[in-house]
Amino acid sequence: MKKKLGFAAGLIVVILISIFAFQLHSSAIKSKKEAAAVEKKVDTKQTKVSTNNKTNVNKNDEKAKNATSDVNNTPSVKQKVIVVDPGHANKSNLEKEPISPGSAEMKIKDGGGAEGVVTKTPEYSVNMKVSMKLKALLEKEGYIVKMTKTEDSQSLGNVERAEIGNKENADLVIRIHADSSDSSSANGASMLVPEPINENTKSINEKSMYYGKTVLNTLVSEVGMNNRGVVQRNDMTGFNWSKVPVILIEMGFLSNPQEDQLLCSDDYENKLAQGLAHGIDAAVKASSKK
Ligand SMILES: [Zn+2]
Repeated sequence: MKKKLGFAAGLIVVILISIFAFQLHSSAIKSKKEAAAVEKKVDTKQTKVSTNNKTNVNKNDEKAKNATSDVNNTPSVKQKVIVVDPGHANKSNLEKEPISPGSAEMKIKDGGGAEGVVTKTPEYSVNMKVSMKLKALLEKEGYIVKMTKTEDSQSLGNVERAEIGNKENADLVIRIHADSSDSSSANGASMLVPEPINENTKSINEKSMYYGKTVLNTLVSEVGMNNRGVVQRNDMTGFNWSKVPVILIEMGFLSNPQEDQLLCSDDYENKLAQGLAHGIDAAVKASSKK
């Protein structure tokens, strides 16, 4: 009996030792696994960090690329030449000139402009004031601005005016005028552009049309007036002799009592010049991107 008990006790001790040994072993395995897991976590973290760094670098690369392409995409207005042509003079010029190069048809150089129905202000005076304001605004934006004339007394023919734009190789010539009608209710602005009838006007029609539309729409929406649209004309000497894009704005009607008074106010003239400058800037920039 004593021997049996001793054997049983011995067996229990062996079993207990075995259990302990097994637990020790498995806990060792566990901690190895944990350690491996921790390592893995650290690894992932490091990978993440390095991925982030990579993304940042890429982002910076992109930024740098964008900055360069922004610079390339922003059309510079430097060296862009705008010719501003204030319509008429303080005296009419009844000499005649060919309506188109090589044409036998002759037309008066300047029959004189309109006159304010209420204020009696002559059109050349309104034209010159808006033109000088427009020149200052465009120069502020970086454009090179050439005037066909700066004095009311300078009486130029339309061939002479067109030749100034040609000589300057202007990006755009804008002729500044105010309208007149037998109907005192007629109001708003219209834009005249050359109809493609000769070698000159065929080469400038498309661009003039684009500039004309853009400038008119900008002006009308900024000033808030009636839009009478863009009209192609084949009977204008100043268009037919032009080799560079040319547009003629009729800024409103001096024969309309309300518009006459507006056209003669400094505030309204500032607005007109501002609208024209914004329109020209938008048109020239969009056109250089094409
Ligand atoms: Zn006129």
